[in-house]
Amino acid sequence: MSKKFILICIFFLGVLVSSCNQTNRKNGNPGDAANSVEQKDTAITQTANTAAQIFAKQQVPVLCYHRISDGDKGDYTVSPATFSGHMKVLADSGYHSVSPAQLYDYLVYNRSLPENPFVVTFDDSRVEHRTIAAPVLEKYGFRGAFFIMTITYNKKNYMTKDQIAELAKAGHTIGLHSWDHTMVTKYKEATDWQKQVVEPKKKLEGIVGKPVEYWAYPNGVYDHKGAVELSKYFKIAFSLATKRDSIQPLQSVRRIIIPECTPQGLLKSMRRSFTGK
Ligand SMILES: [Zn+2]
Repeated sequence: MSKKFILICIFFLGVLVSSCNQTNRKNGNPGDAANSVEQKDTAITQTANTAAQIFAKQQVPVLCYHRISDGDKGDYTVSPATFSGHMKVLADSGYHSVSPAQLYDYLVYNRSLPENPFVVTFDDSRVEHRTIAAPVLEKYGFRGAFFIMTITYNKKNYMTKDQIAELAKAGHTIGLHSWDHTMVTKYKEATDWQKQVVEPKKKLEGIVGKPVEYWAYPNGVYDHKGAVELSKYFKIAFSLATKRDSIQPLQSVRRIIIPECTPQGLLKSMRRSFTGK
């Protein structure tokens, strides 16, 4: 083989390799891109935080409303005007509502949340949650989490099954609040869990057409044993302003009950209860 022929071969090999590299640079190497996405996903989805890491994370403010009515007074009722004022001040102050699913991904996988996040929740399946609260939330681009005690289906002053399904369809989260509001600390037998959790969860899933993965404790009351049991059924269980369980931090996520108060009063209690400022 002549030296000239070998040189020509090396030259063409060089051109071929260089043109391949250029193609890769110009179009991006699909293989590399796929690998990097895969690696990123693997890093996020496979490394769940430990209980201690979840417990140490900055808490996100979670608000809890019950009745929205002009009639009743008390800590569990706000007027429709007050509720609208609360949502307006949150929107005006740059708050963004996040869903329980987003909260879960933040706590467990460190996924980022929008600036000034908060979760807004509603307990006891009241009809005004659909007729008053949801339209106000949607006006500001917010979405809420509605916790249903399933004994109330289609009863006077409570949501119908169709109204619950409508909320889910509009992008709100539907969670469970037990069958008849019996506190978790009173579930002694397997049949109690069946009646208060397993069966109502299944029925509610049939109504909303998706998994029901979030729970709000009736009366906000829980104990460690109950939290452990609930972790088999729900990603997050919301309590009230009680102490969190450091071993089961996802099953003891704190909320504050919002009473009739001024918009500024709301912002103040959110800051005080969740950031200590
Ligand atoms: Zn309740």
